[in-house]
Amino acid sequence: MDHKMTKRITQQDIQKFIPIAAFAILLGISIYEYVKIHVLTRYIEVLSASTTSFQAQTASTTEEIKASIKETHATLAAALNQQSLNVGAVEQRLKEQVGNVAGTVSTLQKLSKTDPELLAKYSKVFFLSENYAPARLTEIPEAQKYSDKKAVSIHADVWPYLKNMIDDAKKNGIELYVSSGYRSFTEQKNLKSDYKVIYGAGTANQFSAEQGYSEHQLGTTLDFLTTGIGGDLDRFEGTAAYNWLLANAHRYGFILSYPKNNQYYQFEPWHWRFVGVKLATELRVQGKNFYDLDQRKIDEYLVSVFE
Ligand SMILES: [Zn+2]
Repeated sequence: MDHKMTKRITQQDIQKFIPIAAFAILLGISIYEYVKIHVLTRYIEVLSASTTSFQAQTASTTEEIKASIKETHATLAAALNQQSLNVGAVEQRLKEQVGNVAGTVSTLQKLSKTDPELLAKYSKVFFLSENYAPARLTEIPEAQKYSDKKAVSIHADVWPYLKNMIDDAKKNGIELYVSSGYRSFTEQKNLKSDYKVIYGAGTANQFSAEQGYSEHQLGTTLDFLTTGIGGDLDRFEGTAAYNWLLANAHRYGFILSYPKNNQYYQFEPWHWRFVGVKLATELRVQGKNFYDLDQRKIDEYLVSVFE
């Protein structure tokens, strides 16, 4: 019975099995194809993704390299720049030092050429030697002199300042004339003797400095007169010329050596000494008298006396 059945099933089923097998084969192929395509697609996707990532990586690497080169470049440029700055700074410092040395040399040269007596205070302790005379004297022209009877001279370097002052005064309607300028030791001595004869020693001492103490021996000091006072020095105080000098003389480097109420010497409104614009202006600004300053302080202005 089993055998029969088997035989029978086999014969019948073979025919039935064919389409099933065919279907199974087709299904298998389909599945295979589907899987193959799916896998391939996936593979392509992965490949493509990795290509993109590779490209991106390459790109970012390129950017990094570029950036790095740029940075290096910038660093080098900065270093070079710093170096040239350093060189520049060193150059600048050298220039400054050379300038300073040159400045010091020129200051020393100026000082060596500037007569220290020009700004010296004269008293019973400090006085000019009998042989002292200014380096260069120049004669004051008739136009600026009060009297044409005798020659009046002045330190040659002071003359331009004096001329400017007299010219500017004239522009302002002020008549300013030089009554006396440089006086030698001997002239001063004779003048003093004359005064002693006329007024007696005591009175003469009050208004005429002993020879050697007079600022007139410097050649930088002048006695001024103006019109309308008959050549009387004592009347100079009340004049417009005196007031003009009080307000303006410092701008030309002149100071009133012995102002009213000074503790040093009798008041001489006509007697003006050249000390340079810088010192004269400084004294004016500070409201100080030349003779009240310390000699060491005064000497700081020696280098700029003719500036
Ligand atoms: Zn005088």
